[in-house]
Amino acid sequence: MRSPLVTTHSHTAPEDAERRRAVPPVICYPTHTLPQPNLSLYMEARRGARKIGETLVKPRDAACFEVDAGQFFRITSIEGPQVGDLNLWNRSDLDERFYSGKTRALHGTHLTTGDRMWSTFPAMRPMATIIGDTLGWYGIDAYGGSVHDVIGTRCDPYTGNLLSGTQYHHCCHSNLTRALADHAALDLAKAEQNVHDVLNVFMCTGFTRDTGQYFMKASPVRPGDYLEFFAEIDLLGALSACPGGDCSSEHSSDVAACFPLLVEVFAPEDGALGEWRLPSPNGYDGSHGR
Ligand SMILES: [Zn+2]
Repeated sequence: MRSPLVTTHSHTAPEDAERRRAVPPVICYPTHTLPQPNLSLYMEARRGARKIGETLVKPRDAACFEVDAGQFFRITSIEGPQVGDLNLWNRSDLDERFYSGKTRALHGTHLTTGDRMWSTFPAMRPMATIIGDTLGWYGIDAYGGSVHDVIGTRCDPYTGNLLSGTQYHHCCHSNLTRALADHAALDLAKAEQNVHDVLNVFMCTGFTRDTGQYFMKASPVRPGDYLEFFAEIDLLGALSACPGGDCSSEHSSDVAACFPLLVEVFAPEDGALGEWRLPSPNGYDGSHGR
């Protein structure tokens, strides 16, 4: 655990330490050259879309769902405040999956309307674009917290075992593993290899300003709140209703109050997407200098 302004390993700060700290930051990936989604086209197509299916995710469990490219899906809080852990794959190639770290580098620590969920190398293309977020009003609170993060990983039984010696089986990691195994007819070990860092839907998180530690706090989500996406490619999704419930106290246990989550899929009318085309895989030639 680091403490700012305290030197470690007995190294004293150089004389110009304050001047070095005072250098202003530079945004790593300015997004003005990033291909922008046509949000108004998506929203117009969404207005005429009809619901074609739904999946109920039980508390402390996960479920898979499929969405065709050009369709929409909405994740809604029902019955009580609940956080969801979302995985996405290219439906015909599970090796292309959501890349949390790169999405964070491009859009920041938390996602909202207009941001996209990017896929892993070498495809590295938008998998889904957020077109609606009823918690968009939350912004960044006084603790540095915000909602829908791509900074956490997913609660998992290994970290629980490491920290407290537990054997808990309903962490999001295990829930997603079981759901994928059942849906894709994979054995558990193979399914587990495909589970990846999530989009933490509705979760309120940040890093403490003084020690830089990952924190969570009670989610501001209430029944009726939703996060809605446009599917840019054919998707297989898996959503876990986290055993932490609203993540106000603890996760990786059966202590917290937990509620279901609803996933609904909507199809636009024919022709409603106009000139929209499936995003191509990344244009890098893959030769890596050889
Ligand atoms: Zn979880």
